[in-house]
Amino acid sequence: MSDTPVVTRFAPSPTGFLHIGGARTAFFNWLYARGRGGRFMLRIEDTDRARSTPEATDAILDGLAWLGLDWDGEPISQFERASRHAEVAKTMLENGTAYRCYSTPEEIETFRETARREGQAALFQSPWRDANPATAPDAPCVVRLKAPQTGVIRVNDKIRKKVEWRAGTLDDLVLLRSDGTPTYMLAAVVDDHDMGVSHVIRGDDHLINAGRQSLIYRAMDWALPVFAHIPLIHGEDGKKLSKRHGALGIMDYLAMGYTAATMRNYLARLGWSHGNDELFTTEQAKDWFDFPGIGKAPARLDFKKLDNVGLFHIARSDDAELMEEIAAYLVQIKEPALDAETAAKLQAALPIAKNGARKLPDILEKAYFATGTRPFEADEKAAEKLNSVSVRVLNELTAALQHANFNKEDLEAVVADFAAQKGIKLGQIAQPLRAVLSGRSVAPSVFDMMAHLGQEESIARLNDAVTRGR
Ligand code: GLU
Repeated sequence: MSDTPVVTRFAPSPTGFLHIGGARTAFFNWLYARGRGGRFMLRIEDTDRARSTPEATDAILDGLAWLGLDWDGEPISQFERASRHAEVAKTMLENGTAYRCYSTPEEIETFRETARREGQAALFQSPWRDANPATAPDAPCVVRLKAPQTGVIRVNDKIRKKVEWRAGTLDDLVLLRSDGTPTYMLAAVVDDHDMGVSHVIRGDDHLINAGRQSLIYRAMDWALPVFAHIPLIHGEDGKKLSKRHGALGIMDYLAMGYTAATMRNYLARLGWSHGNDELFTTEQAKDWFDFPGIGKAPARLDFKKLDNVGLFHIARSDDAELMEEIAAYLVQIKEPALDAETAAKLQAALPIAKNGARKLPDILEKAYFATGTRPFEADEKAAEKLNSVSVRVLNELTAALQHANFNKEDLEAVVADFAAQKGIKLGQIAQPLRAVLSGRSVAPSVFDMMAHLGQEESIARLNDAVTRGR
C-alpha cells in the first residue's frame, strides 16, 4: 500500500436525474474509499450554466441519500471555482504549455471543411500556436493547450491497462472559452488536483478524456491520479442503455419498490464480481471491492437477478428500516403515507410478510391480511376458491378451531387432523381459508396468519364468510 490517502469523488453534471450508471459510478467510488478508510467527495459539475439546474442537483443528492452513499465535507460547486481554473490557465500560458488562439468559429469551420475535402484529419490546427504574441490582435480569444505533436500519449488505466494515443490525434483542446469561463476538461483536472483526488473511477465514455486530461497534469507538473474507467451498462438486450429500456433513473427503482440494500448489492454486481458471490452485504462489498474484480465487457441489466437480490435483502432486513423504506417508497409513488394504526399493524406483520418478498409492494400485498379490516371482500382470484362446498368445510373447521391453541404448530396439527377426518386434502382447506383470512390469493401461510391474528379475529373472519354464504 502506498502512503497517499485514498480520495475518490463522484462528479455528476446536474442536468437531470441520477442515472443508474451514475449511481453505479458513485457507488464504486464510495466502496473504494470507504473500504480503505479514505475520503469520498462529491463535486457538482455545474459550469454549464445553461444546462445545470438546482432541481437536478437536488435529485442527485436525493438519489445518493436514498442509496446511503454519504460523502465527506460539503458538495463542491465547480462553477464557484472558476477563478481558480482561470488562474491555472494563466500559469500554463506563462510556462508555455498553453497559448491564446484568436481564430474565429468561422475560420475553424473553414479549416475543418478544407481538411475534410482534402481527406485529412479534421483536427483543428491553430495558426496561433506558434505565432509571435506581438502580432496578437485586440480581439476575443480562447486559451488552448499545446498538445504534443510527436510521440505517444499514454495513460495507465486500472481496467483498460496501457492506453495510448498517437500524438496528433488529440487536438489543442480549449481550456478557457472566449468569455473566460473554463471548459470541463480544465475544470475537472484542477478540481481533482486541488481536492487531492487519488483515484478517478468513472464510465469508460471518459477514457479519451483521461488522455486529454493527462496533458494538463503534465503541463502543470502535477502527479496523475490512478484512472479506472469502468465499462458502461447495457440493457437486457445487450444494447447501449437508452430511454427505450425504461427505468434509467435510480429513483425509478425505488418507485418499483426495490430496497436500497438490494440496489447496492445489484449495482456492485453491474461490472464487478467477487468470485461467484451474487448475494452479499454492503459491508462485504466494502471489504472485497477492488479493481481486479471489474470486467472489461459492458455489464447487463438483468431484472430476474435483481429480484433474487431483493429476495435475499428483504428477508434479512431490519423491520424498522423496512418501515422507513416503505415510507420512502410511498412518497416516491405519490401514495399517501400510512396512518399510525396501519403502520403499527404492518410493522407487527413484517416478520411474516417479508418472507418471499422481492420488492416493497410484495410486502404490502402480503401484509394486507394484517393491515386490512373486516369484512374482507375476496378479490377475483380469491373468490374462485370460495363456493358453497368450501364454505361449508370452513364452517366445520370453525368448530374445530374453538378449542385450538393459536400458535403455528398447534394450528397445523388441528387442521391436519380435521383434513384427515374429513378425508380431504390440506390444499382444499388452505386455499379457501387463505381467501377468507386475507381476501387475497397471495398471502402468507394460513397458519402464520391465524397465529398472528389470534383466535377471535380468525374465527370472526371465518364467520363473515359463512354468513355471506361464500
Ligand atoms: N461530469 C462528468 C459526467 O457527469 C463526469 C466527469 C468525471 O467524472 O471526470 O459525466
